[in-house]
Amino acid sequence: MDLVPKIKTNAIQEWFGRLPGSMGIGNVRYTTSGKCDDASLIQGTQPVTASANGIKLALSFNGNIVNTLPLKKEMTENFPDFLYNCDSDIVCHKMLLGLKQGKDLASAVRSVMESLDGAFSVTGLTGDGDFFAFKDPHGIKPLCAGHDPAGATYAFSSETASLDMNSLVRDFELKPGELVTVSQDGFKRTQIIKNPHPAFCAFEYAYFARPDSRFDDKYVYEIREEFGRNIVKEYPEIVKNSDMILSVPETGDDPAMGVHEASGLRWERASRRHRYVTERAFILLNMERFSTIDRKINILGPKVNGKRVIVTEDSIVRGDTTKVIIDKLRKSGAKKIYVFVTFPRIIGPCFYGIDMSTYGQLVGSKHSAEEIAKIIGADGVCYQSIEGLVRATGQTQDQLCLACITGKYPTPCAQKMADAMKTRFFDGYEEKTRIYESDEVQP
Ligand code: SF4
Repeated sequence: MDLVPKIKTNAIQEWFGRLPGSMGIGNVRYTTSGKCDDASLIQGTQPVTASANGIKLALSFNGNIVNTLPLKKEMTENFPDFLYNCDSDIVCHKMLLGLKQGKDLASAVRSVMESLDGAFSVTGLTGDGDFFAFKDPHGIKPLCAGHDPAGATYAFSSETASLDMNSLVRDFELKPGELVTVSQDGFKRTQIIKNPHPAFCAFEYAYFARPDSRFDDKYVYEIREEFGRNIVKEYPEIVKNSDMILSVPETGDDPAMGVHEASGLRWERASRRHRYVTERAFILLNMERFSTIDRKINILGPKVNGKRVIVTEDSIVRGDTTKVIIDKLRKSGAKKIYVFVTFPRIIGPCFYGIDMSTYGQLVGSKHSAEEIAKIIGADGVCYQSIEGLVRATGQTQDQLCLACITGKYPTPCAQKMADAMKTRFFDGYEEKTRIYESDEVQP
């Protein structure tokens, strides 16, 4: 239960001593289903394991399952001791059910792909020593494959940065609906389901992915710089009437470089980050978020005093963290503050693995850019256009998931739930839980 770098090296070494095999899977979980208390989080730690009729399975996944309620029922009927902690248990047991029914690995994966609504990039192991990895038919979350040039190791990861750091060569990004197995002869790729409508998460480019990772051979930092250049073209008047750019570290840094290059404005490093406060504010609980951002960012007053400032930010979800920074800038004497936001206005929840899962928590679900500016205390909030964002990724609109900024969800169950809750929300209903865990909008 902590950030990986905080785990002591000797504790990791001790684990290596207990793991004598030649294959392994692991996961750093970011909770988007199940309960959030410590005991539940520990129980939901991945990889999850399950066994039946002598068949064993271990599995870890990145993403989120939307139609968990009917699947929970199916798993309880088929596995008397089935216990649900989070949606990983569903993915694992659904696959085990296929194997238990005598299906081969590819057919069991097909039944998972056909029955789960949501995002799932999966790695797993069978008790027979088969290693496999697959992506949901929309390919919403990333998963890439690589190898050691000496040929002794094959690896999968959500991001290419981890392959780089382990001196592994990236071979390919898994295709939506693809299953990859590994043997001593290398990768075997099988297209289980062909989907003409992929939907890779656009938010990965703006916020979630590391800047030093690559998607389709393009570094994320390059795309973020392009976001900055786009936004200069989209708001020339504001650029003309500003004195400097300042970025919210760190996801605002790369767009700030783009704004600087395209505008010629000076990029002042007037916001400094506390090097030991490492939590990402967006994924913390409400109370912690405020104090974390307050402790994390400090403003160099002399640099902003009396200045018209452009602040580059990756996204505005709730608006509260941006507001803390604007307050600090005002106290430091900034005369005008415009926020350049690279991810367009978030109007709806995510069902696929980013924990923004209700309309109520999104400041953009009910408020325009002008209203948001007032709420957070800025002189203006300038969102990059959806067209600009898509162009910079090198993809086309129909290759990306843009659901949280357009309201068009790539999977049917998510669309139905989002629509049903939206109607209630705008009628004044107060959401009590994540939409996909709410009994009231189950399709
Ligand atoms: S809804 Fe938004 S955050 Fe979620 S997968 Fe789609 S683009 Fe990404």
